[in-house]
Amino acid sequence: VLFLGIDLGATNIAAALVDESGSIIRSSSTPTLSVRPATQVIDDMVALSLRLIGDEGLTEQDIAALGVGIPGIVSSETGVVHLCPNLFWQQLPLKDMLQTHLSMPVHITNDANCAALAELQVGAFRSRQSAVLITLGSGIGGAVILGGKLHSGAHGAAGEIGHMVVELCGELCACGNRGCFERYASADALMRMYSADASTRMYSADASTRMNSASNTTDIPTGKTHTAKEIIAAAKNGEPTATAVFEKYVYSLAKGIVSIINLYDPEIIALGGGISHAGDFLLQTVRKEVSKHLFLKDCPSAEIVLATLGNEAGIIGAALYAMQKIRQIKCL
Ligand SMILES: [Zn+2]
Repeated sequence: VLFLGIDLGATNIAAALVDESGSIIRSSSTPTLSVRPATQVIDDMVALSLRLIGDEGLTEQDIAALGVGIPGIVSSETGVVHLCPNLFWQQLPLKDMLQTHLSMPVHITNDANCAALAELQVGAFRSRQSAVLITLGSGIGGAVILGGKLHSGAHGAAGEIGHMVVELCGELCACGNRGCFERYASADALMRMYSADASTRMYSADASTRMNSASNTTDIPTGKTHTAKEIIAAAKNGEPTATAVFEKYVYSLAKGIVSIINLYDPEIIALGGGISHAGDFLLQTVRKEVSKHLFLKDCPSAEIVLATLGNEAGIIGAALYAMQKIRQIKCL
């Protein structure tokens, strides 16, 4: 039995045919071009799905169900996307719109929920009862597993870790609130912190300091925006600004993780998203910082690991979500 999974991102629509064990049989993607009207994005989601099915020599009847992961607040029951800021969608009946073009059952949910489901079935959360996934990308996504199941909340909005308020009068967030966690611990936050720090240093430093820093081979050039990857690489090499900014970043991240531990006391927390490519360098620093701020210092607490499925977590999880829904319906 095969399932289709779509991971709808602000940049790309990724889709895959996935089998019952969570293995990808065939995958493909197409640009989202998110400023377009929703109907055009949906047409491309349908075309991509049909192309994948055709390329595998199959027909729609061979696919048990389609699952779609959305970067926003979704009601899985009604199939309505309540809010998807990256695609400028609001109250969009996505499930019904897809269903008019496709004969297989369609199920939609939040993308971080998909990733957590994939980690639960075939990744870092296998055989765990309680777990929290934190994806550190341009924003912060999150999902919570309780009792071995996704905890999506009474209104489908649980696990929005990126919008936990960590500073009462803090920076303005895209959601309209101030002081959200993702303003301090996302990849974008790291980049902002670095460019603010680098320009301050550039203007405040005297000429000799500038000369010295320019002669430092591990220094990365200022005056342009650096990616999170470049900043982390510079921090690994001991470049002073990058090191200081990375430490500040990890401090913010650790504070958020401590709140999550205080709230859920999960068995395990996995870090995913672009920042997680920093690997052990990130993990060691985060573990050390978290242990400093734990409420229960001398007791066992959540294991902190890297998510294992990377970019594919979203499509695998979307397909597995569809599989789960189909099985639930059959059991009723
Ligand atoms: Zn927010």
